[in-house]
Amino acid sequence: MKTFSELSYNRLVIIAYRLPFKLVKKGNINVAVQNAGGLVSAILSLSEKMNISSGSDSKILWIGTGEKQLGKENINPKFDLLPVEIPDQINDEYYGGFCNDTIWPLFHYFPSLTVYNPSYYDSYVKANQIFADTLKDVIKPGDFIWVHDYQLFHLPSLIRSYFPDAKIGFFLHIPFPSSELFRHLPRTWRESIIKGIIGADLIGFHTNDYTQHFIKAVKRTLGCEINQNYIYVEDRICKVDAFPIGIDFDKFHEACFLPKVLKEKERLKKQLNGKKLIFSVDRLDYTKGFLYRLLAFERFLEKHPKWHQKSVFNMVVVPSRDNIDRYKDIKKEIEATVGRINGNYSNLAWRPLIYQYKSLSFEELVALYDISDVGLITPLRDGMNLVAKEYVACQKENVGMLVLSEMAGAAVELNEAIIINPTDVEETADAIDKALNLTQKEKEQKIHKMQNRLSRYNVFTWATDFFNQAEDVTDKQKQMKVNFLDPHALTDIRSAYCQTGKRVIFIDYDGTLIPLSKYPDMAILNERAGNTIKKLIDDTRNKVIIISGRECEFLERQFEGLDVTLVAEHGYFVKNPGKDWITKSSVDLTWKEKFLPIMNEYVDRCNGSMIEEKHASIAWHYRNADEGIASIRINELKDDLTEILKTDSKLQVLEGNKVLEIKSVLYDKGTAALEFLNKKKYDFIMAIGDDKTDEDLFNVIPEYGFTIKIGTNPSKAKFNLKRQSQIYEILEFLC
Ligand code: UDP
Repeated sequence: MKTFSELSYNRLVIIAYRLPFKLVKKGNINVAVQNAGGLVSAILSLSEKMNISSGSDSKILWIGTGEKQLGKENINPKFDLLPVEIPDQINDEYYGGFCNDTIWPLFHYFPSLTVYNPSYYDSYVKANQIFADTLKDVIKPGDFIWVHDYQLFHLPSLIRSYFPDAKIGFFLHIPFPSSELFRHLPRTWRESIIKGIIGADLIGFHTNDYTQHFIKAVKRTLGCEINQNYIYVEDRICKVDAFPIGIDFDKFHEACFLPKVLKEKERLKKQLNGKKLIFSVDRLDYTKGFLYRLLAFERFLEKHPKWHQKSVFNMVVVPSRDNIDRYKDIKKEIEATVGRINGNYSNLAWRPLIYQYKSLSFEELVALYDISDVGLITPLRDGMNLVAKEYVACQKENVGMLVLSEMAGAAVELNEAIIINPTDVEETADAIDKALNLTQKEKEQKIHKMQNRLSRYNVFTWATDFFNQAEDVTDKQKQMKVNFLDPHALTDIRSAYCQTGKRVIFIDYDGTLIPLSKYPDMAILNERAGNTIKKLIDDTRNKVIIISGRECEFLERQFEGLDVTLVAEHGYFVKNPGKDWITKSSVDLTWKEKFLPIMNEYVDRCNGSMIEEKHASIAWHYRNADEGIASIRINELKDDLTEILKTDSKLQVLEGNKVLEIKSVLYDKGTAALEFLNKKKYDFIMAIGDDKTDEDLFNVIPEYGFTIKIGTNPSKAKFNLKRQSQIYEILEFLC
């Protein structure tokens, strides 16, 4: 992986809701202090490793809300700060409203707490526009613009509208929910969110699950074409992938023996006096699962009395948004439950639960992480959860064990921890007991495995991986760039054609040689197409190969009397002029019986659609179905098929023009074309196609060949043609 300065960018621009610093009054003067949060720590750590000299053009530009004054002061030599000013009234409805009362609860799977207020949404739109207006004058060519989190969903597309060639990344720090939940949002809201995000070139999430949820939401909301992790957005592509945010591992790992931390540990150990320590720390939020955690601890005390007097649970809750009623209520509930548990179990010598409502200093935090025997991290839902990773990094002097909720993104990477479901009080209670009973060796083995992983994929790797992948996307975009065939390029093709004598021309049938029609049977070879092909094959130096997904009987009828080679059903059948059909008979076709009923079900559920059962594949055509219903059914069918195909890797789903087809992966238009290219050396190669299945064909054409895609979508082909009918003009011009 290349470092940021080794990549092709000049400057890193971070855009997040907040600036990384705020001004706090100390006596009569304002002092800048660092804002809390994973992103701030990540980028500050990153900046220390980046080669930035103060006063240079390469300083990181951070754009976000914050005091105006921050833009004028040189707070950190590696940063330029640009404050965004959002009027209070808009900000209340934008941040307090749409961000925190709509997106936050819904994306954390709390639909019942979600507020759907059109006025909040309007303010969200306005605030994103204010961000866009602010940055409009400062973005420069060569910037890598990295937009962060759910407060700025609309921003990537707004930036793109001002700077079409900008390099933009977007990272979501919270979960992206399942598309069923995302559907709770009104249609215009969810469309604008998806359209906004896909303005970026690279879109990152913490886990693969969130990535898949997003991909599904894009399909269902906008029906964009998606190939693996690439989304086709009009004439460009963007990529979606998982980048689990890491921590500054060394900073936490090394901190355990800092003098201040050692002192703090001594103080705490004296207070514990040999008792085992169970520890948790989280911001006050309903997603963190405080009540279930307390109930689990209560059950632990009830079920495992051997730990009475011998263990203590220190639950630290970091103040957050406690001016809001819902948060005040959680706090009250926590306090009442803590009171009840302590009331039931305490005695003069022992209080099982120490609850603290406060922030911890870095040294206090590291000391508590290290000396505790159990880290009890049990959110109901959490995008990642950095505390879990920090806890693992700090297991040094006294190696403990992590009990972690499966609902935290971190659980994907920390699978040696004791993983629990946070609402399962019984399981969590037993997990605490299990963690306390583990031998030193068992704990060390598990913790070391996790530490190794965290030290490798740390916060620097996370950011560097993101920057590198963004550059890969740029390369891919160049490959897939839409490049319309102009007269100049056409003349070049013709001169190559004229100078060569061993030519092969691959032509797809539907949508390429023949325009698409309402019913497959109506797309017969028209006079112009027939004459064009005839002209081509009249020259004995040309080999013309019709390469199609159609059945062999259909192709044979159309090209009767014309000496062309036919490739039917994407390469399952091949017929050279005057010869019989050759079949890929070794390919297993028994799977068809299983899929036919499923696909037939979709014919019933989508009026106007039809099944075409071919010899070696099944296609579902929906050209004549209602567009709205078809767009829903196609995505449902794709989901169903993808699910089944997970267990059958020998099959693939092809998406053509208004058709979905299942076939074996063992052959495609690419492998079929290669068989011809490997048999004979051609000095002129041309391939023309219109849909996704033709991309396999374009892929195998050597660099000196000419590939043409009909349509305006990005493609591997060298050239695009706007209209299908242009193909006749081009082929006629050649001969
Ligand atoms: N943290 C903090 N102040 C404290 C205790 C913890 O800033 O008093 C930090 C902690 O080190 C961690 C972050 O807050 O880096 C919490 O991140 P996490 O992903 O666990 O939860 P979030 O608050 O982002 O939902």
